Amino acid sequence: MKSPTQCCDLCGCDNIEIISQADRHRQALNTGLCLGCGLVMHVPVPSEAEVTEYYASRYRQDYHGECQPSERRIMRAWKNAERIHKQLEPALSGVETVFEVGAGIGCTVKLFETEGFKASGIEPNYDFNAFTKQSLFAHVDNVNLFSLETTPRTDLLLLIHVIEHFSSPQRALRHIRELIHDDGLFYVECPNITGPFATYDRMFHYAHIYNFSPQTLQATVEQCGFELVQCFSGDNDPDIHMLFKKCDEAKAAAVSSDHAYWVRERINQYNVVSYHARPSYLSKRARKVSSYLMEYMKAKDFVADLLGRLARAGS
Ligand SMILES: [Zn+2]
Repeated sequence: MKSPTQCCDLCGCDNIEIISQADRHRQALNTGLCLGCGLVMHVPVPSEAEVTEYYASRYRQDYHGECQPSERRIMRAWKNAERIHKQLEPALSGVETVFEVGAGIGCTVKLFETEGFKASGIEPNYDFNAFTKQSLFAHVDNVNLFSLETTPRTDLLLLIHVIEHFSSPQRALRHIRELIHDDGLFYVECPNITGPFATYDRMFHYAHIYNFSPQTLQATVEQCGFELVQCFSGDNDPDIHMLFKKCDEAKAAAVSSDHAYWVRERINQYNVVSYHARPSYLSKRARKVSSYLMEYMKAKDFVADLLGRLARAGS
């Protein structure tokens, strides 16, 4: 089925095929595949205003107005930040400033600060902002990307599980590029639509407006004036981890309809039965369940210790 007229954010073509009409909760949601390049997106793409409204209401619904993230959530965010820092460390000589767009509860900003960087960030949702400032002592402002003045302010910009939420990744990346010093670095993470992690009916989500393959992510970022420094993830990993450098020339998108057909094949590679019957799924699942249990037990002590250390350092 062909979609109503809509142009692809990556290659600009309007040859978009509807590949799914429901999200992972079986709610109506049209997902399209651009046959020109392989980018997967909502049809229609919601506006920035609709996205903002969605987050405002959904956050209140999910957390019932809580302003304190759970201990498990804090511990996971902190450990994830440690992983990101360790992964990037060899590339960080000369980097003094770090800025995160979509900083969430602020653990990554704070971790980079404790590692000696001048680190700050922005987060459009305000629900956890008091916790971020008063318990983590992290420099995260409650500001939207597009209201930031486009003056260079950082040597390294982080965008962790955020690019898939923009209504135009190109527009966001062009704005982001202006925030980075010349020759500065840009690190991005997002889910990998071509990784073996989900079946059609578990895959799509309203909040993920775009779904990238490693190739469509690289082409999207490079088209906005960056060049790839390193890809840390493999083609079969559930997430894509890529480090770019700001450069003068924007590259033409290196994509083709062949890649689009490959993306379609990868998305279709498992049905519900074969996905769950994979030996690696079962062992991974078992490991996941036991690690969840460990997390629940450990998180309380971990967070008490972390917040105590930060409070002593901050006072
Ligand atoms: Zn396209």
